[in-house]
Formats: sequence, structure tokens, C-alpha cells
Amino acid sequence: ESDVIADTGHTDPSASVVTSAIAKLRLEAQLREALEQGVLEILWQPIGAIADGRIVGYEALMRWPHVDLGDLMPKQFIALAEETSLIVVLGDYALQRVCIALRALADCGCSPMPYIALNVSGRALSSAVFVDQIIASAVRHGIDTAWIRLEVTESVFLDYHQIEELIQRCHAVNIRVAVDDFGTEYSNFSHLHRLAFDTIKLEQNFTHDLDQPRCLAMVQAIIAVARAIDADIVAEGVETDAQLQQLRQLGCDYAQGFLIGKPLTSTELLASIS
Ligand code: C2E
Ligand code: MG
Ligand code: MG
Ligand code: MG
Repeated sequence: ESDVIADTGHTDPSASVVTSAIAKLRLEAQLREALEQGVLEILWQPIGAIADGRIVGYEALMRWPHVDLGDLMPKQFIALAEETSLIVVLGDYALQRVCIALRALADCGCSPMPYIALNVSGRALSSAVFVDQIIASAVRHGIDTAWIRLEVTESVFLDYHQIEELIQRCHAVNIRVAVDDFGTEYSNFSHLHRLAFDTIKLEQNFTHDLDQPRCLAMVQAIIAVARAIDADIVAEGVETDAQLQQLRQLGCDYAQGFLIGKPLTSTELLASIS
């Protein structure tokens, strides 16, 4: 259920189902229009190396400034888009914005170039032309595909062969692939050891609960697995110095979270690097 569908106050449950179905249709139409008009914004959240604090990349996070409802977060509209073909439009939208931002960073003389990590949903990934679209768009914007990274969640592992092929095709053009939110859903160590993921992104609950022995043990195990499969680790949701110190001691490579930096607007991003 979308958070933004207002409670209409109807007592008849069938009436409220109808109303929320209509509200959902309306929101979907508004999202389509917002995408067509270029209203959605992408914020850029820095990812830092734990060893020296250097910013190595940014994750692209979508925001929808809605006229009536205010700024909507991805959890309020991504699921809706995923129910329809809109997710493909949304994915392409994010890709274009990522390419534009990378071009702007390169034009600022950024060296070494940071990468931008793009979240991709399962439905977009299952499209055979997905990687071709990234390549075409990179060519169009004059950027190197090596500057783009993909973040995929475990839920898309449903089709193991598709993800295997995706990784191969990405690696052929130097696009790295991360498992997002590792540790949520049904953590799949069995898949991990056979898939050539470049990065494991540790779900933020782990970062927040590092003071609990069981959680600490899990994180140690995940880091050991990452080492074994030659992947690096990005801890998500790092908010305190204590968490950062602990992650450093555990041998975690990178950190992302409010301590490292809040998601930046495009203007803030460019200002921060010059
Ligand atoms: P994610 O990929 O795990 O992104 C990280 C989320 O954690 C972001 O939420 C970010 O704002 C939040 N976060 C970052 N640092 C901290 C911190 O220190 N503390 C806390 N409490 N939270 C932190 P956001 O922006 O609401 O995004 C939620 C999810 O929506 C993302 O999770 C991603 O799965 C999805 N998403 C975002 N943009 C896109 C997009 O363009 N396409 C697709 N398909 N999904 C997207
Ligand atoms: Mg992500
Ligand atoms: Mg994540
Ligand atoms: Mg997360």
C-alpha cells in the first residue's frame, strides 16, 4: 500500500477499496506526467572510503516533488511504478540524469572521476536490451560506462541466470554491479558465491545494530564472504563516529550515510567538488 493514498474516512470497506484504487490510478497518471515533464529530481549521496575519507562515488536517489503531497520518497512511488511499465520509463529517466551528472562532473575536471551508482529494479533488469540502453546513453552523453555502477536488490535473484548474464554484460563494458541491502529478505549466500558481484552493500540495520553481538557476528561473516568472492563492502546508514570506527576495525571498505554526507542536489554536488 502506498503511504500517500489518503484515508477517505469511509466506513464501508468496499467503498474505500474503490476510492484507494482510484487514488492509485490518479497517482500513477501523475507520475507518468511528472516523468514526461522532467519534474522528478535525483539527489546524490556521497560514498566515502573508510581508510582516508575520500569520496569515491555517489548513489542516485530519486525524489518526486509533488504539487499537493510535498516531496515524495522512493518508497511512496517506486512500488507503484513497478506494478506497471512506468518503472521502465522511471529507470530510463534516472539513467539519463545520471549520465548528465557524470558529464557535468567530468566537465568540472573531476579527477579521479567518482562513480555514480544507479538503483535498478528487477523489471528493468529482466529486459534484454537493458545494458545496451546504458551503453547507448553513455555514448550519447559522452561518458565512460566505467563511471556507472548498478545496484540490484536480492529480490531480483529470482532468476539466477538473468542476473549472471547481466553481470557478464556489465563487466564487458566495465560497469560494476553491487548487491543492494544485503542481509534483508532471504540473504542468499548460496547465490553470492557463484555470482561475480563487485560490491556488497550492507543493509543499514546492520550498521545501526553493531553493538549487538549477533549482529556483529553477521557483519563479520558477510565481510569474510565479501573477501572470499573478491567484492568490496559499502556499509549503508552510517550516522555516528562510533559506527564508522567499528566498521573500520571490521575491515569494511566504504561507508555511506548521513555522517559521510546527506543526499545532495545537483547544484550542491557540483559546488562540493569545486
Ligand atoms: P537504497 O538503495 O538502499 O538507498 C539508501 C536509502 O537509505 C536512501 O533512502 C537514503 O536516503 C537512505 N539513507 C542514506 N543514508 C542514511 C542514513 O545515514 N540513515 C538513514 N536512516 N537512512 C539513510 P531513499 O532515498 O528513501 O531511497 C529508498 C530506496 O528507494 C533506495 O534504497 C532504492 O532501493 C530505491 N530507489 C531510490 N532511487 C531509485 C531509482 O532511481 N530507481 C529505483 N528503481 N529505485 C530507487
Ligand atoms: Mg541503493
Ligand atoms: Mg541500499
Ligand atoms: Mg537500504
